[in-house]
Amino acid sequence: MGNKYDLIVIGGGPGGYVAAIKAAKLGLNTALIEDRRVGGTCLNRGCIPAKAMIHASSVYREAKEAESFGVSASDVVYDYSKILEYKEATTEQLVQGVEQLLKGNGVTLVNGKGTLLADKKVRVSLAEGEQQILEAENIILAAGSKPLILPIPGMDLPKVLTSDELFQLKEVPESLVIIGGGVISVEFATVFAALDCKVTILEALPRLVPNMDKEISQNLKLILKKRGIDIHTAAAVKGVEEQDGLCVCNFEEKEKPLSVSAQYVLCAVGRCPNTDGLFEEVNMLQMERGRVVVNEHFMTSMDGVYAIGDLIFGPQLAHAASAHGIVVAERLAGREPSVDVACVPGCVYTSPEIASVGTTEDEAKERGITVKVGKFIMSANGKSLITKEERGFIKVVAEEGTGKIVGAQMMCARATDMIGEFVTAVANEMTVTQLLKGMRAHPTYNEGIGEALEELEGGAIHVMPKKKR
Ligand code: NAD
Repeated sequence: MGNKYDLIVIGGGPGGYVAAIKAAKLGLNTALIEDRRVGGTCLNRGCIPAKAMIHASSVYREAKEAESFGVSASDVVYDYSKILEYKEATTEQLVQGVEQLLKGNGVTLVNGKGTLLADKKVRVSLAEGEQQILEAENIILAAGSKPLILPIPGMDLPKVLTSDELFQLKEVPESLVIIGGGVISVEFATVFAALDCKVTILEALPRLVPNMDKEISQNLKLILKKRGIDIHTAAAVKGVEEQDGLCVCNFEEKEKPLSVSAQYVLCAVGRCPNTDGLFEEVNMLQMERGRVVVNEHFMTSMDGVYAIGDLIFGPQLAHAASAHGIVVAERLAGREPSVDVACVPGCVYTSPEIASVGTTEDEAKERGITVKVGKFIMSANGKSLITKEERGFIKVVAEEGTGKIVGAQMMCARATDMIGEFVTAVANEMTVTQLLKGMRAHPTYNEGIGEALEELEGGAIHVMPKKKR
């Protein structure tokens, strides 16, 4: 095949491998450069292993609570080494699947570190120490991100970990302090609290998952506290020190200096683009605050060089990166983009799950959009009662007058699966009336979506009418 391709993709995560497969399917001669296993953070150190651990820990918690369904399970125990085995086997199966898909679609997988050179060339430092120069008509940079380390004292202590290292622990910590109250924090807090670890969360802003709807943050705080997790919000961490084998985390809450100690500290304060060794020269591309600047077609300041996923501004989410990869590949193959990259669902795999898309009621107000909100409390949903779910809700935000659905927020069982219905609605500018048209099966959690929509169309069947004055 030589060293000349239609497309070279640097980085084999959910952005890069999806772009490469899509491009190959559309007839482009494509090479993918990856220096570790394909699948990136998502498959190897992020979404998939984390969700496997969330699943295992909830099976343990549910088994202990089985009595409420008339099932007695005595001596319920977990074996963490087996949970890790299950997590690794799941990851391995998916990684191998991606490798096979790349091969099956004729993508040339080059195992090495890719560096962008001028004139649409890429230098690959191969695992064996050799170097190879490849060239292409177009290049997609999809090198992903890495954990952000807070610039405070003590972050280099051996028991201060990032999510990458937390996955490597062979035992469940007795106690864990998590710096940050974002997505990684609340998901790991859910896992380790369920596995009987004492968890404390320290979040700098006034609420957990601050990017989500306020009501979600409030409910999540109550639920996590009920599970024994200590939560400090408006708590800025100043530093970590080691004392008697424990990590002491010093923080300031409402201007009061406080400290909390634990066996390990997890730093989960965001992720930054992984540009190490990606560019031959530092100023090759226009950058802003560490991120690669791109135009609406994901093209960087260098003609024919694109950047997608966690390297650029926007939500750092696997599915967003995949969507970027698909639309860039489609455009390069002369097609119209098939996905609306502006409509990105956000999901948090706590229990209950959280999912959101589009605009919240508060954001709509800030933007001067007049909206109406339909809300359904899931305790009136049959399936939620059967499975004894925590109190949850579904909210749909629609534009006043047109009835166009502009957003939805939900906190309930299967929220991360059900959000798809609202993503389809927002991306296609559907109205409440249109989304209500499809019948929902009974009994399903999904019926809650129908009821939230009905609240905007004269009242839901399973909600008491508001008293007339
Ligand atoms: P995040 O941005 O979601 O949350 C980081 C939190 O840390 C913020 O709430 C911030 O206010 C807080 N913080 C910052 N400095 C602090 C300090 N000094 N003291 C206390 N708190 C501080 O980042 P994350 O949770 O690290 O996740 C990284 C990325 O990975 C995010 O973009 C996230 O969306 C993504 N991710 C997604 C999922 C999912 O989709 N389910 C799961 C995990 C991670």
